[in-house]
Amino acid sequence: MDNLEYKNLPPLPDYYNENLLLRLISSPGTTGNEGPIAELIRNELIAVGVPAESIVDDQANKRISVPTPCGNLIVKLKGSHPGRPLLFSTHMDTVPLCDGAVPEWVKDKNQIRSKGKTALGGDNRTGCAVLIQLAARLLRQEGIRPNITLLFTVREESGLHGARHLDTSLLGNPSMGFNVDGGEPAKFIRGAVGAERWEAHIEGIASHAGVHPDKGASATLVASLAISEVHRGGWFGKVVREGRQGSSNVGILSGRNGGTVGDATNVVTDYLHIRGESRSFDSDFVRKITQAYENALVSAANEVKTNTGQTAKVEFHSQIDYEAFLIPEDSAIIQKAFKAANKTGLSPKLELGRGGLDSNWIVKHGIQSLTFGAGQHEIHTIAEYVDMAEFKSGCDLALELALGD
Ligand SMILES: [Zn+2]
Repeated sequence: MDNLEYKNLPPLPDYYNENLLLRLISSPGTTGNEGPIAELIRNELIAVGVPAESIVDDQANKRISVPTPCGNLIVKLKGSHPGRPLLFSTHMDTVPLCDGAVPEWVKDKNQIRSKGKTALGGDNRTGCAVLIQLAARLLRQEGIRPNITLLFTVREESGLHGARHLDTSLLGNPSMGFNVDGGEPAKFIRGAVGAERWEAHIEGIASHAGVHPDKGASATLVASLAISEVHRGGWFGKVVREGRQGSSNVGILSGRNGGTVGDATNVVTDYLHIRGESRSFDSDFVRKITQAYENALVSAANEVKTNTGQTAKVEFHSQIDYEAFLIPEDSAIIQKAFKAANKTGLSPKLELGRGGLDSNWIVKHGIQSLTFGAGQHEIHTIAEYVDMAEFKSGCDLALELALGD
């Protein structure tokens, strides 16, 4: 379609931003229940003038392993000239604590807060509002504007599933991406840790602990030896080795079906389920940390034997939650972001993220992605609020990123 079709759109109503954000926050759509919010986003986009046929569902839900009602929404906004599009992304789901959220605009504080005992869901309906208002303003923009792709992901809060299973072929080969998910607008997150979850099933051999302890092989002993070994090797908790840093934890020890480890004090424990995680800004190092746990468990199992030489056994599995990434400080995307922030009257700075973001997967898909905020604070708690001044700055920053060079 050419530009002319975007002409004759109605002007933006007064308080468009506030009302839009209030509608988005009021919509149900916790993680894994995105049906209503996906529908609302689609309708809001159409209402500001986005042609319905430019909005597609990438059917990521068919590739995500947990039940999800719809895929990611991808929107292509045609610019005034050919060229690779810029990607703007955000997640549409909220944490379960936001279920039933009712927002209240506290005008004297210029904040939106939750009326009841739920979290608000400013994380990340602020991002959805930024992208929708960006579309609305771009469509009313005279003169030169680039091709833009908008991406609203599902299932971010429950494990970054939407971004991971994104159909990148629908994005139009973006040159770079900006992800809206945070508080301060000009705090650009240029890297984040990667994380891996692991678990092991330790099969010991039961025996009467008083009468024939030597006929048993204790799963508890295997786990204890392994954890001690990991600790002695410097792989437990904060990990600093060979100039690299990371962290690890053993979070959960349980028996069969999530019950206690062992059933009686007089039985040599025949089973233990152990679960933990590894993190680092360096993907290789994440794997190294996990490997230290696997090696320690396997060698401990070989050490714990019955009197006839039967050993305990270990079955080890690990799974990447998200990949680490780090965008170099001198890269073009950071220069562009700083220019746009300065033009918007903000003081830009760079940060590293400690948790996973959709950007972890977007970068893994080959698209550099910087994350910035639009006023969400105290996220995932009932004290959550949106700072409306920051929200407006986030909206202006998005427009400047889209239009600036
Ligand atoms: Zn978020």
